[in-house]
Amino acid sequence: MALIVQKYGGTSLANLDKIRQVAEHIIRTKKKGDDVLVVSSAMAGETDRLIRLSRSIIDPPDERELDVVTSSGEQVSSGLLAMMIKSLGYDAVSFQGHQVRIITDNAYSKARIVKIDDEKIKKALLNGKIVVVAGFQGVDEEGNVTTLGRGGSDLTAVSLAAVLKADACELYKDDVDGVYTTDPGICRNARKLKKISYDEMLEMASLGSKVLQARAVEFAKKFSVPIHVRPTGRPDTEGTWVVEEEEAMAEMEDIVISGVTYDKNQAKITIMQVPDRPGIAAKLFTPIGNEGIVVDMIVQNVSTEGYTDMTFTVPRTDFKKALRITEEVAKELSAKGVTSNNHIAMVSLVGVGMKTHSGIASRMFSALAREGINIIMISTSEIKVSCVIDEKYTELAVRTLHDAFNLGE
Ligand code: ADP
Ligand code: ASP
Ligand code: MG
Repeated sequence: MALIVQKYGGTSLANLDKIRQVAEHIIRTKKKGDDVLVVSSAMAGETDRLIRLSRSIIDPPDERELDVVTSSGEQVSSGLLAMMIKSLGYDAVSFQGHQVRIITDNAYSKARIVKIDDEKIKKALLNGKIVVVAGFQGVDEEGNVTTLGRGGSDLTAVSLAAVLKADACELYKDDVDGVYTTDPGICRNARKLKKISYDEMLEMASLGSKVLQARAVEFAKKFSVPIHVRPTGRPDTEGTWVVEEEEAMAEMEDIVISGVTYDKNQAKITIMQVPDRPGIAAKLFTPIGNEGIVVDMIVQNVSTEGYTDMTFTVPRTDFKKALRITEEVAKELSAKGVTSNNHIAMVSLVGVGMKTHSGIASRMFSALAREGINIIMISTSEIKVSCVIDEKYTELAVRTLHDAFNLGE
C-alpha cells in the first residue's frame, strides 16, 4: 500500500461543486487501496480577502493577529473537504496545523518549519481514514498560530511528504495543468514542461513564477521529494515532474533555457554620492536587513573623487519601509540624496544549460534592444540572467524573450 500526498490549490476548491469533484478524486485514489493525505489551500481569493479586511483596520496589520486571521481560510476549506468526503460515504478527519503539531519559529507570515509531529496523522491513516491537513499553517513553541508565506500550502504538502516518506507528492491545480515555459496567462504559445530540475524550478519560483512556492521547492530538493504538478479532475493527464537535475536533463537533451519569468513586485532605490570607504554598505544594509527586508540586486558605481552611487532593489511590498530607512542613513552619511522608482519589473531567463553554453546574456540583451526596451539593471547567476526594466514593458519583454529563445510550441 502506498501513501499519496495530494495538495489542492485554491482554484481547485473555489466552490462546493469543485470541492465535491476534489472529494470524488480523493476517494478514487483511496479505492485503489492507497492511503491518502490531503493538504488544502484556502478557497480561491480567500487569503487576499482576509488580508484586505485586516488592512482596512490598520496597515500594516498586527503581525500575530494577521496570521490568526489568514490561517482561517485553510481551516474552512479543510473542514469542508473532510465533511464532503464523509458525506460521500468515506471516513475522513481534518487537522489544523496546531493539531498535527507543525512546529515553526515565530516569524509571523513567513514562519519556518522546525519540526513535524506525525503521530496523529499516522494513527488516523492506520484507522483507514482519509486525512485532510489545513495547508499554510503552523504553531510556534508558545502555541501562537503562524503561517508559512504566500503559497505556503505547497510547503505543508512537501514537508509532510518528506516526514511521512510518502510515495508521491501531487500538487493539483485547476487553471494550469503543469509548469510551463512561461506564464501561459501572458504567452499563448507557452509550452508545458514534462520535467524540470529542482534548481531551475527554484529559480523560476524565486524570480516571480507563482506556480509553486520557492520554499517548498527548496525543501523538496533538500529531502529529494519528487513533485508532480497536475491538473485537478484529469487523472489521465501527466503534468510536470520536478526532479533531480540528471533526470530532468535526460528528458531535455539539448535545451539551454527552460523558462522565462517576470516579477512586478519590484522597486529600486538609489543613494547618491556616499563616501567610497569601508563600512558604508554595512551602514545602509544592516538596518534594512534588521527590518526583515530582502535586498535582491545591489549595484555600486565606479567612484569619482572618493564618492559613489549605490542602487538596490527590494520587494515593492517593502518599498516604503526601505525608502524611509535609506533616507535616514543618507542624512547620517551626508549623501547628496535618494532617488527611487517603484514602477519597475524584473524579467529573467532560467536554464541549467547556461552552465555549459555561452552567449545567452548577449542574446537576451539584443532581443530586448530590438523592441526598444531599456535595461535598467542586470544580474546573473550560474543558471539565470535577470534584467530590471520599466514595468510597462513586462508582457512585451516576456513574449519577446520566449520567442527569441524558441521556447514556444
Ligand atoms: P494554486 O491555486 O493551485 O496554488 P496558483 O494560482 O498559485 O495555483 O498558480 C497557478 C498560476 O501560476 C496560474 O494561474 C499561472 O497563470 C501562473 N503561472 C506563472 N508562471 C507559470 C508557469 N511558468 N507555469 C504555469 N503557471 C504559471
Ligand atoms: N492560502 C495561502 C495563499 O493564498 C496559501 C496557499 O494557497 O498555498 O497564499
Ligand atoms: Mg499556489
